[in-house]
Amino acid sequence: MRVKLADRIGFCFGVKRAIHMAEAALKERKKVYSLGSIIHNSQVVESLAGKGLAIIKDLDETKGGAVLISSHGAPPEIFKKIKARGIEIIDTTCPFVLHAQRIAGEMAREGYDVIIVGDQAHPEVKAIVGSASGRGVVISDKDDPALADLGCSRKVAAVAQTTQRLDNLFDVAGRILKKRPREMRIFNTICSDTGRRQETVSDLSMRVDAMIIIGGRHSANTNRLFEVCKNECESHLVETEADLREEWFSGRETIGIASGASTPAWVIKKVVNMIENLKTKSVKRKVKV
Ligand code: SF4
Repeated sequence: MRVKLADRIGFCFGVKRAIHMAEAALKERKKVYSLGSIIHNSQVVESLAGKGLAIIKDLDETKGGAVLISSHGAPPEIFKKIKARGIEIIDTTCPFVLHAQRIAGEMAREGYDVIIVGDQAHPEVKAIVGSASGRGVVISDKDDPALADLGCSRKVAAVAQTTQRLDNLFDVAGRILKKRPREMRIFNTICSDTGRRQETVSDLSMRVDAMIIIGGRHSANTNRLFEVCKNECESHLVETEADLREEWFSGRETIGIASGASTPAWVIKKVVNMIENLKTKSVKRKVKV
């Protein structure tokens, strides 16, 4: 059994940057809070919590110190609330997410209805909706009932959650165009790392018998990779090596490994080592037979 790693593996630029900013803040300040998870990977969040980062759900839990805004960003009213309390803000919002927020804000100010293609429960999407000043509507995909209920706007702008698949953005935009708006603008706000990762992983999944995707179950980009791989071959999403099952590898000649953008190298290494061990065990069993 051969193990092939995807070309892009481990942290993306935005996650690296957020972790670096969090670690620097923890060294320099007495108390640092994170409003929600700084990134969607429990192993990284636990590691930062071990270094002193306090994860909070509500600003009432703060006692001075500084508040980290996650790489997914936050709606403008959250920034206002933190400032009103006189608390320092360390903003780790990924520049790609910031770009989508800015476009949504500009379009709303110019009178466009803003369609955000993405998952409405995701913090990044909530932040983009907040930037659209009441003109934002979230649509998950072309079959979303909210799309059918959408009236015909004169001016529509579509942006995507940074981790979306491009075909989903175009499918939704296509359905909106059928409502015949007078003007429609489509912005490809999918981040370049996500797009590239999806392409390379799709390519790899066509050349292997099964794929293992390593990443947080709440990580949007990890789940997108899983969706891409599932279309091509048997695929499994694991958070750590503990989730691996021996039977996934029996009779396989090639296994592909991919990771989400927030999966740390140390977790990937443990998963790869465990797969290598399973391989050795299975070879030994065959020799015995
Ligand atoms: S996946 Fe893209 S948008 Fe998300 S943090 Fe990484 S670089 Fe930024």
